[in-house]
Amino acid sequence: MTDLIETLRGIAGAAHVLTDGDLTAYEQDWRRRARGKSLAVVRPASTQEVAAVVKACVSAGASIVPQGGNTGLSVGSTPDDSGTQVVLSLQRMNAVRNFDAANLTVTVEAGCILQTLQEAAEKSGFLFPLSLAAEGSCTIGGNLATNAGGTQVVRYGNSRDLCLGLEVVTAQGEIWDGLSGLRKDNTGYDLRDLFVGSEGTLGIITAATMKLYPLPAAQLTAWAAVPSLNHAVTLLGLAHRHLGAGLTGFEVMGQFALSLVGKHMPQLRVPFLGLEGAPYCVLLENSDSESEAHARSQFERLLETAFEDGCVLDAVVAENLTQAHQLWHVRESIPLAQAEEGLNIKHDISIPVSSIPAFVAETDALLQREIPGVRLVNFGHLGDGNLHYNVQAPAEGDSKAFLRDEEDRVNSLVYDSVKQFKGSFSAEHGVGGLKVETLEEHKSPVALEMMRAIKKALDPTNCLNPGRVVRA
Ligand code: FAD
Repeated sequence: MTDLIETLRGIAGAAHVLTDGDLTAYEQDWRRRARGKSLAVVRPASTQEVAAVVKACVSAGASIVPQGGNTGLSVGSTPDDSGTQVVLSLQRMNAVRNFDAANLTVTVEAGCILQTLQEAAEKSGFLFPLSLAAEGSCTIGGNLATNAGGTQVVRYGNSRDLCLGLEVVTAQGEIWDGLSGLRKDNTGYDLRDLFVGSEGTLGIITAATMKLYPLPAAQLTAWAAVPSLNHAVTLLGLAHRHLGAGLTGFEVMGQFALSLVGKHMPQLRVPFLGLEGAPYCVLLENSDSESEAHARSQFERLLETAFEDGCVLDAVVAENLTQAHQLWHVRESIPLAQAEEGLNIKHDISIPVSSIPAFVAETDALLQREIPGVRLVNFGHLGDGNLHYNVQAPAEGDSKAFLRDEEDRVNSLVYDSVKQFKGSFSAEHGVGGLKVETLEEHKSPVALEMMRAIKKALDPTNCLNPGRVVRA
């Protein structure tokens, strides 16, 4: 393996092959659920260097863990503890290669930070709509490898829907240039869609051509208290009808989740916190191509109808951008507030929107019956049927012991319920190393066999992120 390290130094330069010092940022996952030990962290600067690194690792028999911003939530981007895996960080491949204004596309390298791309797009007069709380650290390559969703999926889709072309280094170290930028291309199997969501197990994404949109003329945010989840779903239907393509965000938050923000971040003002008869609040965003006045009058009409129908108890519309940011900040603070409250069992699930109220009612009751006093932190992207349905220890309980003793049972109860409602146990965070067994339990044998066949065909030596997603 000393030879391999020397070869890697020859490819990327000695300064970009890290073997000593504090490598925590590369070897520990964001949620600190796993800590590994790599043979080396290599940071190539070009697609050709990535290809050479892959060839060198394959011929030395070392496996590779591709890594972007290391913000993934499913333990997919850190090495195991064998000390034999090479972490291939795309950090240095961060250029925005070019904008094609007429084609409404941008071609960008995989290590480009999401926020950098958003800002570059805005500077050029466009919107790049992928948006999530980790946008200051996560990369486009990581977003595509996990098919990240975020807060605007209800309008623009997830990362897959925003991607037109890819450049990929294969498990053999070949370069596939698929940076087409075409919106129509029915020439056989869709290779791009195989790599999107493959979490570094089929190839290394080195660049991508992504869709752009016109910047909206105005963006307005509203916050509404609703009498039940059923009413939140009715409000979503009304919002689709009244706002059409202007509906770019529809988030739901349970009062317990909001109470944790109130408790741990008292400096934040949480509208309608604890309002009687309102177990949920909803955050809506309206992006308008005409003007702020037009956006506001649309919102007013929507809320008027919603009050008349009884699906909103109270509502506020942000007066300006600062207020809008404050409302989003409350929503995005829930995970942090929850972490302050103690360790918890997280689920990132999706259910058809129409079934969400019944799913939540049944699963809440089931968990409360099985584990008296358990606290449910429920929030998420209701507009696209994605809930972060998290389970917190009873108020006076020991959260470490709760996780140790109850995690498997809670997961089984929740995932069985998800299956019963024809949902998915992983809506946007992927499988990584964390949910490999859950995938084996919940995917049909036919689907699993096809997935294994694809892995074997594209990565016959199992050198790319082995043990993640599907076991070879
Ligand atoms: P990493 O964490 O480095 O890697 C993730 C996976 O992709 C790993 O399997 C890795 O091997 C693989 N990978 C990375 N780069 C490449 C590449 N170039 N080629 C091939 N494989 C690669 N996700 C959502 O979908 N929606 C959210 O709203 C959301 N919110 C989040 C909020 C916070 C605070 C945090 C910390 C995370 C959140 N996430 C969310 C998780 C999300 O998946 C990641 O933030 C992001 O998509 C991963 O990008 P990354 O560059 O950090 O990838």
